[in-house]
Amino acid sequence: MDSLIRRLEAHRVGESEGSCDSGHTDESAGGTMLAQKLIPTGTLGPANRGRLLQALYDVGASSRAELARLTGVTRGTIGGIVQPLIDQGVLAEGEMIPPKEAGGKPGTKLWFSNEARPICAVLLLHDRVSACLVSLEGEVYGQHGAEFPKNLTDPSDAFRIISTCVEEAIASGKPILGIGVAVAGMINTETGAIVTVSLAPFLNGFPLEAELKKRFGVPACVDQDTRALLVGDRWFGKGRGRKHFASVYIGETLGGAIYLDGRLYRGPSGAGGEIGHTTVDMKGRICQCGRRGCWETIASSKWLTEEAKTRRLPQAHSLDVSRLLSLVNDSVPGARELLQDYAFNISIGLANLQQFMAPNFIVIHGDIVRGGNTILHLIQETFGDLVFHRPGDEIIVDFGASDCMAALRGAASLLLSELLNFVI
Ligand SMILES: [Zn+2]
Repeated sequence: MDSLIRRLEAHRVGESEGSCDSGHTDESAGGTMLAQKLIPTGTLGPANRGRLLQALYDVGASSRAELARLTGVTRGTIGGIVQPLIDQGVLAEGEMIPPKEAGGKPGTKLWFSNEARPICAVLLLHDRVSACLVSLEGEVYGQHGAEFPKNLTDPSDAFRIISTCVEEAIASGKPILGIGVAVAGMINTETGAIVTVSLAPFLNGFPLEAELKKRFGVPACVDQDTRALLVGDRWFGKGRGRKHFASVYIGETLGGAIYLDGRLYRGPSGAGGEIGHTTVDMKGRICQCGRRGCWETIASSKWLTEEAKTRRLPQAHSLDVSRLLSLVNDSVPGARELLQDYAFNISIGLANLQQFMAPNFIVIHGDIVRGGNTILHLIQETFGDLVFHRPGDEIIVDFGASDCMAALRGAASLLLSELLNFVI
């Protein structure tokens, strides 16, 4: 893996410094296609290595023969790719497989070594930061967290808190491969700097990726939290093996990320993903972004609480989707109607996403997931009424995770994709 890190660093020196998606852009800053870059022959090896490791994530522990079949190359080619990864301690030989025919060679299942260096994953929210280690198998451990003081105004104070959290996470473990960060805000993915974090203006403009590299001397990658969720879904979750899908976060805020034709679409410098701020009601409420009638104003957990107050439901000030479900189960008047309205409001944004980009598979993360199958079925039903169905198409809306583990795995996946030169 050390050679992978050296390659990554060399790659970044030659490209725009610190970019999360450097190396696979084919557009100028203005979005004009100038010319397709040729693939240098020296990068074919790393590209094949990335594809092979993704195939392992997609199908689980596999023998060399199975990998050869899956990737359409000879067993000898697979051997040439996996042997250095075994020598470097990234992969390990596992369970023995007896030969299929008499006189044939026995094989072994290959999987990620539990001796491989982990990745430090960081989730940065407006009021707190969490850090942990993530193994190459996606296991999360050594989690530490810290809250920002209410009166914080200086970005260097915030960075001190973030750095301490990272230090605590990595203190007990082995050396790390690098640091992946998911930020609940807008990110410039060309520079790895934070553009804005709602409710935490002291972080606006902070060059987080560059500062982490300087402070810890390892590769770092910073991106928006919903995109991290999507990359985590691609490596470790329900997006495994899919060519098209979208990940959406529904909680206090709303965000979305989309994976089309086998790649994550970030938009210029990471400007995409603001689906929470698409207008759905021209006469609607004012959003925290300052605009009127954004999807976030009718589908966030804040809408649910405010609406519960307006509709005079019991203990409305602390109402979330799990408590709303208990009210529904207790047949409290108005509870079922509120749940149905909330599911419909959520479906509107999901349907807009589906109608325009047709990801056909949408994974929802965030607080809403605590509503379980009851609200999932309501969302699926109303979403189904709002979208076109073409014969033969299967369009699925499913729940991912409600906790921050998915975002942390996603943050680690951002770095993993960079290290393995895997196009996401
Ligand atoms: Zn808005």
